Amino acid sequence: MAATNRNFTLDKIRNIGIIAHIDAGKTTTTERILYYTGKTYKIGDIDEGNTQMDWMEQEKERGITIVSAATTAFWTHSAHSASSGTENLYRINIIDTPGHVDFTAEVERSLRVLDGGITVLDAEEGVQSQSETVWRQADKYKVPRLCFVNKMDKLGADFLATVKSIEDRLGANPAIMVLPIGAEQTFKGTVDLLSRKCFIWGSDELGAKFETTDKIPEDMKDQVELYRSKLIEKISETDDVLLEKYLNGEEPSVEQLKDALRRAVIAYKLVPIFAGSSLRNKGVQPLLDAVIDYLPSPLDLSSAKGKGINPKTGEEVNRDPDPKGPFAGLAFKIQIDPHVGKLTYFRVYSGTVTSGSYIYNSTKNVRERIGRILLMHANTREEIQEATAGEIVALVGLKETITGDTLCDEANPIILEKITFPEPVISLAIEPKTRTDQEKLGFSLKRLMEEDPTFTVKTNHETGQTIISGVGELQLEIMVDRMKREFGVLANVGAPQVAYKETIAQEAQAEGKYIKQSGGRGQYGHCFLRVTPKPRGEGYEFINAIKGGAIPAEFIKPIAKGIVEAMENGILLGYPMVDMTVTCYDGSFHDVDSSEIAFKIAASQALQAATRKAGLKLLEPIMKVEVTTPSEFLGDVIGDLSAKRGQISGTEDRSKATIVLAMVPLAELSGYATTLRSMSQGRASYYMEPSHYEEVPQNIVAAMLEKSTFTGRINAQ
Ligand code: GDP
Repeated sequence: MAATNRNFTLDKIRNIGIIAHIDAGKTTTTERILYYTGKTYKIGDIDEGNTQMDWMEQEKERGITIVSAATTAFWTHSAHSASSGTENLYRINIIDTPGHVDFTAEVERSLRVLDGGITVLDAEEGVQSQSETVWRQADKYKVPRLCFVNKMDKLGADFLATVKSIEDRLGANPAIMVLPIGAEQTFKGTVDLLSRKCFIWGSDELGAKFETTDKIPEDMKDQVELYRSKLIEKISETDDVLLEKYLNGEEPSVEQLKDALRRAVIAYKLVPIFAGSSLRNKGVQPLLDAVIDYLPSPLDLSSAKGKGINPKTGEEVNRDPDPKGPFAGLAFKIQIDPHVGKLTYFRVYSGTVTSGSYIYNSTKNVRERIGRILLMHANTREEIQEATAGEIVALVGLKETITGDTLCDEANPIILEKITFPEPVISLAIEPKTRTDQEKLGFSLKRLMEEDPTFTVKTNHETGQTIISGVGELQLEIMVDRMKREFGVLANVGAPQVAYKETIAQEAQAEGKYIKQSGGRGQYGHCFLRVTPKPRGEGYEFINAIKGGAIPAEFIKPIAKGIVEAMENGILLGYPMVDMTVTCYDGSFHDVDSSEIAFKIAASQALQAATRKAGLKLLEPIMKVEVTTPSEFLGDVIGDLSAKRGQISGTEDRSKATIVLAMVPLAELSGYATTLRSMSQGRASYYMEPSHYEEVPQNIVAAMLEKSTFTGRINAQ
């Protein structure tokens, strides 16, 4: 009988992601992994697609494409392959991570749900700027990783220099596990240092078998012994028992070393480094063995991942990866599938969920019904009846759930630790051409928002325009393109605008009164508010300091609402206000005439008066920019960034180029791609990501006020 997913105990599951700089070879490596794992195992019980079809044939026909956000594959560890049955078979769920840095949110949501990562590096380029960004993100989500130094066949490939860049630029502690045999055109395999075995691939063909021999090339023998002893020392240092052995001159066994290394990887102490060439089909099988050997199973990381709060009590709670525990998990990606409609990719952290059952979305406080549960394979999908702790599946039939929501057992509610997303810093206006387009626009934006939580949509009440916002120009361009192509919306699209914010300069207080008591039904709302600045990035807080019933409890909510609405619309130039505490400390009411709406209006007036008194500041997003340029253009690049109000934080020399690191206001960076291209004859490249918000200099604010048509505007302090 073909094994189904039910045969896998948690220790046999690996949930991994492949993280890399664009062009390092993530796609090629993933494809090869899917090819080799597809060879290992033929999936049974499939409801769609023909699994009997030979994989090679399929590849010829349409190429192995990675279509899903999470793909389930199976791998038999080579050290165990002699045994029969399915007991040595492992299940590897590969969670797709996007390559472009404009999709930080996508990277973050995948990092939140995976247990381990493979960082793919280009053996010629070493660690690149974006590898650094994704590495830091993986640190933030505590993802144990190993590195694959890819492209060993490429001209200029240098394994040890790449390892050095891992140490220098990523600050990681690398454990060199293999040494490459040959490099560039002569690259043919690796020597595994622990076992002293050589893996040699006879050809570049997809599916080429590798030969395992003990015959280390003569000219590598000394180097192998040297790096082997360094490796043993490094591993031993992470484990007291091994260290003692090592210091006594005793060599721990390979099994002991592998066990200790596994623990060290999971504790983020060591990063094992492998080498190969995905394009030439070399080094992929040992990499898969390494995933099994060194990356954590869901059991290894239980406490880190199942943390959350009980939404009813506010208490911290934790879920263990126990199939019998209360059900809880996280939706991490929404994808529209042409065959089944909306798929909600979901990681189960605890308990078991069955198809057809009702579950509770604790983030939204709604109940949802699961129509079907699917396991997504590389080229087919499998319908399963239930999913348990540690698994990654796609749910069909959910309506309200979006990326980042927790789904759980209603009787045991939990909101799992959220995926944090960067805030939008750039917006543009969209005007649909016709009424039909207006309707289609609403629908398409809703869909796109479900897929990407950093993409937000608002209506500008003054102009009636629809404003979309995101974390980068490219992201917005792609969204607009999808809106037109996939949903057929015809619309005029404005130029991208910087998402400024407003805040207050100092503490102040003011009164708001909305009282009408002549004729008809009266109105009575009256409150005093104090506004206090908060440090940058700390957001907004409301404090109810009403004592002795000066304002009855039922009117506090409308007051808070009035404040939030006034803050959203801004005061200085119409940008949303942030980073302040608003305290409601006094007021009065009328037995008959007081109403929610009167208090809401009073609060809005008090807020506007208090913030005006406090003085207003304009804040702008600052981008972290990295430009890689041939040295001859360095002067021009730096000069231009400085002219753009940029702060140069440093430069780094690479073999053929220099990297300039800078913090630059987003407002100065529109069209930077074109500027840089013409400045460097197309040879420099850059990437940027939002860093933080800073105050806009006074002269610039003054110029903006001059030009602004915003009606609520007042002079800046
Ligand atoms: P991604 O952007 O990280 O997904 O990278 P891709 O897998 O698309 O690869 C980017 C480019 O590098 C493509 O042209 C690949 O053919 C090439 N590439 C990938 N792996 C290798 C390799 O092992 N050796 C060489 N020489 N090129 C490779």
